[in-house]
Amino acid sequence: MERDRAMLDIFEFKSCTRTETLLAVPGTDLKMPATVIHGAHPGEKILITSGIHAAEYVAIVAGMELARRLDPADVSGTVIIIHPVNVSGLIRHTSLVPEDGKNLNSVYPGKPDGTTAERIAWFITSELYPHIYCYIDLHGGCQCVFRRGRQCSCRRGYLRRRHRSA
Ligand SMILES: [Zn+2]
Repeated sequence: MERDRAMLDIFEFKSCTRTETLLAVPGTDLKMPATVIHGAHPGEKILITSGIHAAEYVAIVAGMELARRLDPADVSGTVIIIHPVNVSGLIRHTSLVPEDGKNLNSVYPGKPDGTTAERIAWFITSELYPHIYCYIDLHGGCQCVFRRGRQCSCRRGYLRRRHRSA
């Protein structure tokens, strides 16, 4: 019931408003920080996510800065920014979802009764996708490449998949 009300709050158009909220992922203890910006006029809804890979700090900061700087008066429609999606990964400095070690980007569309990464993906595909016109997923700036002098686990996994499919 609490989740349903929160989701309704996000999509209910309130002209020229910026709202900070937490989106609870069903079946987990995770809550994703989000900013919802309703513009001066009703219009399409756009979803922007960052931190699917939680060690990509540049993308997360870009999402946070956009959420702070975007003036509702300059917007038509609704912009929903999640910064970051992979909250526990950010806390533990890993791009993967630490609860199950999975690459969130690889488990879509997810499962309602799956592992933590699968439940996060399912929340996005089942609760958000049906309402939005456009989805922008921010990636890049992986800190662990520079800190450890080698590729991070998400990049290595991506290369493995490419080699297998080649
Ligand atoms: Zn990434």
